[in-house]
Amino acid sequence: MRLVILGGGESGVGTAILGKKKGYEVFVSDFGKIKVNYKEVLIINGIAWEEEKHTEDLILNADVVMKSPGIPDKSPIVKKLIEKGIPVLSEIEFAAPFTDATIIGITGSNGKTTTTMLTHHLLKSAGLNVGLGGNIGKSFAWQIADNKYDSYVLELSSFQLDGILNFKPHIAIITNISPDHLDRYDYKYENYIDAKFRITMNQTEEDYLIYDADDEAIAEWFKTHTTKAKLIPFSLTKTFSEGAYIKNNKMEISINQEEFTMDTEYIALEGKHNMKNAMAATSVAKLMQIRKSTIRESLSNFQGVEHRLEKVLKIQNVQYINDSKATNVNATFFALDSMNTPTVWIVGGVDKGNDYNELMSLVREKVKAIICLGVDNKKIIDVFGNVVDMMIEVDNMNDAVKMAQRLSEKGDTVLLSPACASFDLFESYEDRGKQFKQAVKNL
Ligand code: ADP
Repeated sequence: MRLVILGGGESGVGTAILGKKKGYEVFVSDFGKIKVNYKEVLIINGIAWEEEKHTEDLILNADVVMKSPGIPDKSPIVKKLIEKGIPVLSEIEFAAPFTDATIIGITGSNGKTTTTMLTHHLLKSAGLNVGLGGNIGKSFAWQIADNKYDSYVLELSSFQLDGILNFKPHIAIITNISPDHLDRYDYKYENYIDAKFRITMNQTEEDYLIYDADDEAIAEWFKTHTTKAKLIPFSLTKTFSEGAYIKNNKMEISINQEEFTMDTEYIALEGKHNMKNAMAATSVAKLMQIRKSTIRESLSNFQGVEHRLEKVLKIQNVQYINDSKATNVNATFFALDSMNTPTVWIVGGVDKGNDYNELMSLVREKVKAIICLGVDNKKIIDVFGNVVDMMIEVDNMNDAVKMAQRLSEKGDTVLLSPACASFDLFESYEDRGKQFKQAVKNL
């Protein structure tokens, strides 16, 4: 069997290792350059590869193809493969049949990484032999090749889910859905929603789907679709006999006739959105029968994830917060919503078709000054120009942070929550967040 892998990054090389171990004839093809460390792995393992080209003669003879999530279906080589009827799978589809481990799959527009890390933390603290993978860290396929774990918590993007046929997690989470990546979905929101719900399409009565019952797109989907999985909703406003909710500042979870209660003030993560993430992760812990005392302890000592509402420093009683991972309006909505003090807001970057009006009432209520940090800030200025007293444009992080210091007073918060991608002025959201933290430290 010939396995061709498009893309020589983490998931591509991981799949190559697994494929080789399982007896496939493996070929890795990357249209860009393959990183040196990955090349070394391929060479050491005797796996054939090419870079900066796709040689059709070596690709179109595949029995099965694994496409890395970054490669769109519209790319010419993928189109040709599909025309020839060759199955084009994602890493998780290829890899999952080679393990009996229990799989917990987490998708959604925002909160995937936080929920995945928290779930992993809960299960690991309970002593389970659990791996972490998908979009984070070491590739799932690679870990299966190394045969390490009894269960996996996987962060799954819609692109990973596009390439599944039979993959089914025993426990699935959809954290929420709001418009994102529409360029990959023919600019149709319903296509993106359907992609997210693929996470449950192969689930059976034995499986579980945990989802945000406050989310409009999810509620709409349920009006016209069903799943066989047992449903576990979570909500900030409703209550359930089976599900998770917040009432009187307590997180209440009721699953399979078992109850779990915890005061939200003891949960280390802050903000309403993080209460949702905590409910989702704790529901998994309950399904995996983790002891209540372990759950309580883990929820109270989980320190969050870098670049997600990350507290950096307090300088002259001004709190600086790095939320560089907020690359869409919905994430920034929750960041602003969780602000309890007057806020100097650093926003801007590459706009993905944002509707900033969704933030209007929060900005009116909480934001005293806006610092626009993008190449093109026109849209932000048009929307908020008359709403806040101070608005300034800058073109680098140092100036943004210095301006923020000048505009803030004791008791304020300076929040970097850009609502935009970072590629106009930065290499990535991580680069943007790191530059922010460095600039704050230099103050
Ligand atoms: P993802 O992996 O889905 O991008 P992250 O956990 O990395 O999600 O968080 C991305 C951004 O979304 C951060 O700015 C974070 O503060 C915000 N966020 C986290 N959880 C949620 C949620 N449940 N709803 C809305 N925004 C969220």
